[in-house]
Amino acid sequence: MKLYEYQVKEIFSKYRINIQKGKLAKTPQEAKQIAAVIGGPVVLKSQVLVGGRGKAGGVKIVDDLSDVEKVADKILETEIKGYKPKAILVLEKIEIKQEFYLSVVLDRKMKKTLVIFSSFGGMDIEEVSKKHPKKIVKLYVEELLGIQDFHINRLLPLVDNNREMFLKLKKIVKTLYSIYKKYDCLIVEINPLALTDKGDLIALDGKMEIDNNANYRQKLLVDIDNKDKENPIELIGKKAGFVVIKLKGNISIISNGAGLALSTLDLLHKYNMGVANILDLSGGATPEKVIQAVKVVLQDKDVKGILFNIFGGITRCDEIARGIAGALKSIPEDISVVCRLQGTNREEGINILRDVNLDAETYLEETVKNIVLKMNRG
Ligand code: GDP
Ligand code: MN
Repeated sequence: MKLYEYQVKEIFSKYRINIQKGKLAKTPQEAKQIAAVIGGPVVLKSQVLVGGRGKAGGVKIVDDLSDVEKVADKILETEIKGYKPKAILVLEKIEIKQEFYLSVVLDRKMKKTLVIFSSFGGMDIEEVSKKHPKKIVKLYVEELLGIQDFHINRLLPLVDNNREMFLKLKKIVKTLYSIYKKYDCLIVEINPLALTDKGDLIALDGKMEIDNNANYRQKLLVDIDNKDKENPIELIGKKAGFVVIKLKGNISIISNGAGLALSTLDLLHKYNMGVANILDLSGGATPEKVIQAVKVVLQDKDVKGILFNIFGGITRCDEIARGIAGALKSIPEDISVVCRLQGTNREEGINILRDVNLDAETYLEETVKNIVLKMNRG
């Protein structure tokens, strides 16, 4: 999950990383009031969960405060890469002497945490990496040791051996690393980290992405709704406790296990059938869970057919069949339903479904052919 700049900055401020004075505004009028309190030139920044706002017109410096309302209105109306801004961050404008880049990021390939620092901030780090490779230092962190002073010392040449500034930077690097660990981040980035005339280092921008696998222990953050990027049906699924993946097509696959779902997807593709979504019941599903799952996928208006693919192990086929039988009443008639049951208590399951006039197959390919027939007919 990505955080908005204003949320990242709240965290920075808690950890005593310097940020500009400022506040979040929901309307142009609010922006004007906040700017009046700041009382000097301001920066207005669109709050969206994508980067590169500056280039897309989402970051505006306003020197004359009588312009704030107008500029804020424009920013609120400007979509950035297809995303509507949630609000505007109104900040006191800082005079920048130099812009640096600093991030702590998970390097998946190396399976290590990487600290990246550059004396060329304010632009894409990929671009810096191509054009000024000597102006970047990358430090790999040994997780057991944490980040050590002798690592950070390698940044000294990039700040022209300015010891006073280096000591400030060192503190920020360590703090950023603790934030990265504490919040289970995939990345935490400051770009630009600005050096002011007074010699202070200030985080002018903040980016943070939390590993969704850690959401269970990031309860504080799970409550905030930064779900803009998730598909509505995936969100509905998540709220009901399922993993749902939205795809393009008309069949919903409900299965107990992600691998099982993917093999079903492959087979449907072989028969030129597109999949609307995949819902994983995971292990030990009860009849109630199955009924819930059907409710979820029916909210996807693309769904014209449902294919259950159940391989009973700990999950018992009769339990699932009871759920399917229970859910059948709520499934509109124009939606085709097919079912594959294999494994524990398969016979009992098939009998339960037969009682509600639903044929269950034992073999997946038969089930797939079955739904192809039904849907092409309907
Ligand atoms: P991004 O484009 O989404 O990364 O947004 P940033 O917050 O990084 O802002 C883009 C650029 O605007 C920065 O690289 C700065 O050059 C500039 N900028 C942002 N805030 C200030 C500020 O307070 N003062 C000045 N002079 N420039 C700023
Ligand atoms: Mn930036």
